Amino acid sequence: MKHLQLLPIGKLDGGLLMELAPAVADTFRMPCEILSRALDPEFAFHGERQQYHSSEILQRMQSFLAPNSWRVLGVAAVDLYIPILTFVFGEAQVGGPCAVVSLHRLRQEFYGLPEDQEILRYRLAKEAVHEIGHTLDLTHCDDYRCAMAPSHAVEWIDLKDSSLCASCQSQILTSSD
Ligand SMILES: [Zn+2]
Ligand SMILES: [Zn+2]
Repeated sequence: MKHLQLLPIGKLDGGLLMELAPAVADTFRMPCEILSRALDPEFAFHGERQQYHSSEILQRMQSFLAPNSWRVLGVAAVDLYIPILTFVFGEAQVGGPCAVVSLHRLRQEFYGLPEDQEILRYRLAKEAVHEIGHTLDLTHCDDYRCAMAPSHAVEWIDLKDSSLCASCQSQILTSSD
């Protein structure tokens, strides 16, 4: 049976993944499991930017694909970027099978605010749904409340919901596999 698989990238609080799993399983109606292996992201670190190249991580994630992988979502504690942007909250392979999200800029502490696990969990769920949505060929949505709305800053993430709008939902249900 196919599973949506969560891959820890580097050291992160396992509790976050345990809480994320049922949320994404519910949205995509797909059983979700947390992989026991983790990916060490150090190979993707670029000293001149002090960040990790998300496309290189996506490439390396291919080796974690198994016959029962539906999609693999990497969750990274480190800050991600692609060369044309200052940072990314995440990156996906459009059409699948892998996507990655970063917790780094979802944390209140990054903005000089007190730590808040609840806000972090909620933002992570939204970004996870967003990037998995891209692996299912979903593009950005005009409905700012939809998880597929674009987010160029954390304030945009806070405006949206962790679920998909009816239109995005119907697009993934009509696409097979
Ligand atoms: Zn996007
Ligand atoms: Zn939508």
